[in-house]
Amino acid sequence: MKEFQKTMARFAVLFLGLLILGFAACSTDSDSDDNSAPTVDSLVPGEYVKTATGFTGQSYDVTVTVIEDEILDIEVSDISKVGSEQVGQAAASALIEDILKAQTAGVDIVGGATITTSSLKAAVDAALVEAGASSNFISPPKTQAKGTVIVDADIVVIGSGVAGLSAAVQAKAVKSTANVIILEKMEIIGGSTKLAAGVVYGAETDDQTGYDELAEFYMERAQGYADENLVKYFAKESINTLNFLGMDPFPPPSPWGPPDAPNGNMSSGTASAARMRMDFTMGGGAGLVNRLVGRLPANTIRTGVKATDLIVTGGKVTGVKAESKKSNYIFNAKAVVIATGGFDSDFTGLMATYNADSKNDVPQSSSQNVGDGIKMAQKIGAATVFKGGKIGWVGIDNSLGEAMHYSSVVVKQDGEVLPWAPRPAGKSSDGKFDLLPGYYEQSEDDYAVVHNRMVEARKNGATAFWAITNGPSQYPDFAHTSDSISGLATLIGADVDKLTAAFATKGPMKTITETGSVFTATKAIPSSIGSMGGIKINTKAEVLKADGTVISGLYAAGETANGDFFYQEYPGSGSSLAIGATMGRTAGKQAAGKLE
Ligand SMILES: Cc1cc2nc3c(=O)[nH]c(=O)nc-3n(C[C@H](O)[C@H](O)[C@H](O)COP(=O)(O)OP(=O)(O)OC[C@H]3O[C@@H](n4cnc5c(N)ncnc54)[C@H](O)[C@@H]3O)c2cc1C
Repeated sequence: MKEFQKTMARFAVLFLGLLILGFAACSTDSDSDDNSAPTVDSLVPGEYVKTATGFTGQSYDVTVTVIEDEILDIEVSDISKVGSEQVGQAAASALIEDILKAQTAGVDIVGGATITTSSLKAAVDAALVEAGASSNFISPPKTQAKGTVIVDADIVVIGSGVAGLSAAVQAKAVKSTANVIILEKMEIIGGSTKLAAGVVYGAETDDQTGYDELAEFYMERAQGYADENLVKYFAKESINTLNFLGMDPFPPPSPWGPPDAPNGNMSSGTASAARMRMDFTMGGGAGLVNRLVGRLPANTIRTGVKATDLIVTGGKVTGVKAESKKSNYIFNAKAVVIATGGFDSDFTGLMATYNADSKNDVPQSSSQNVGDGIKMAQKIGAATVFKGGKIGWVGIDNSLGEAMHYSSVVVKQDGEVLPWAPRPAGKSSDGKFDLLPGYYEQSEDDYAVVHNRMVEARKNGATAFWAITNGPSQYPDFAHTSDSISGLATLIGADVDKLTAAFATKGPMKTITETGSVFTATKAIPSSIGSMGGIKINTKAEVLKADGTVISGLYAAGETANGDFFYQEYPGSGSSLAIGATMGRTAGKQAAGKLE
């Protein structure tokens, strides 16, 4: 807590200095029209403790926690000293709720408990005055034009998924006094990461052979069209990433994988020295988010604050412009990390421009992932790389919204395994690559089929299997289940031999016998769980211009900058979280390493 207060005290001095200097200090090359914007009645972030007196004269502490434009919390040290449970304590709770809701101490005191609530209100008033509030936080609410809040930070991270959180955690590990702020435009933390199953890819061994094999495998899957330096760097760092995430590098066998697969490996069809690890103790992507958030100081993440522009001064990125429902912001920073996730919900923008083939696919990823970071970076001259791929997924009927289906086999309506379809000839968006063969041309007549072993895995916490267990009973029109392959073939009108052959050709399905099995088929739709392509980075996660030079002060990590790790094919489940955490860590380390 001392550390927090010290940081806040330092922050307060900087902040007041900035207020005195006004906007002159933050003129930008890219845009300086904020000079006309009114500043709002800002608070200096921190915890402020004042004393209040209860009904029987006993004193207690009132701690008010604020950030620039919000009263976050009001805590009473010993509620029993406030008054009786029925009157004094109830009135105090009601007053606190009113103040937090109205965001001003100028609310009415609670009738019937005037002594108690007057003292508590006076303590909150005093705390807010100490925090620098002059009007709207103390007077009754009034309509106020949206003004601009100026915030001074060391590192601003945009996005609170695995990449952004890893960047912030690593930056604090390198320099604990660094003032790191994460901006998250949604009201909830975690982006696509919180939706993820939680599989993380990594090299099996910590000797050079393991790294090399993983890198070779990725390069092979990218048909040579990935950046070998980046891929090798990721492969080498993958064990460190697993340790950083607190995952067991050698977990027990996964119920999803074939019985003969090495421990924790979900597939025997991938690189022999690589593992798709599933740590069921983590609680999937949401558990991963919680783990990382728990390692950050309170109030690091500002939810509901959307970054809109990068601020560039003298060729260097020096901050971020942002907005919330309530305020506009200028976050001054020594480094900015873009970790805004993918763009597969930007149907008419980036998807239409760079991945027209898939622009109508149904995204199962976080709905606000529309490529904001990519656009902000492009605007200031960052290079981007797009090759037309997506992180594909088998969705099920559109009417189910976000429901999806984890499947080992996708078959055409007649039961035949969906073939690998050639892409139309042509060049990729940057004109460099011929578009080579390589994607499933999935249509709405296809079925995703699974067996009950996959369903069993759901018991271990994977929410992705919802549709398999509920689909057949709730949606009989497009979900079918049978205790035999032949029965399933009849239900979906497929050829029994083709469907049997389809099962027999696919990894884990090979080992399935009909006895005791339940087979399920659901109508499939082309879908995605993320995009491929975005900001061009080097192995230090620095953002590059088209001429290969670095944009000073700017880093990017995660799905927003994954274009050079892949071609059009996704190498394997777990790649995104592993790459996001690895490059996020790298960005945080590099950015914090340059702070004085
Ligand atoms: C259902 C599902 C299952 C998956 N399972 C796996 C798996 O098991 N293993 C695996 O490796 N990958 C998996 N993936 C893919 C993986 O989850 C994502 O690729 C990865 O989490 C992306 O991380 P990120 O940090 O780059 O972006 P995200 O986690 O999407 O975070 C980006 C954040 O930035 C915020 N943001 C965007 N723009 C702004 C802005 N302007 N201002 C402020 N904030 C902004 C977004 O709201 C979002 O919260 C899965 C994806 C889905 C959808």
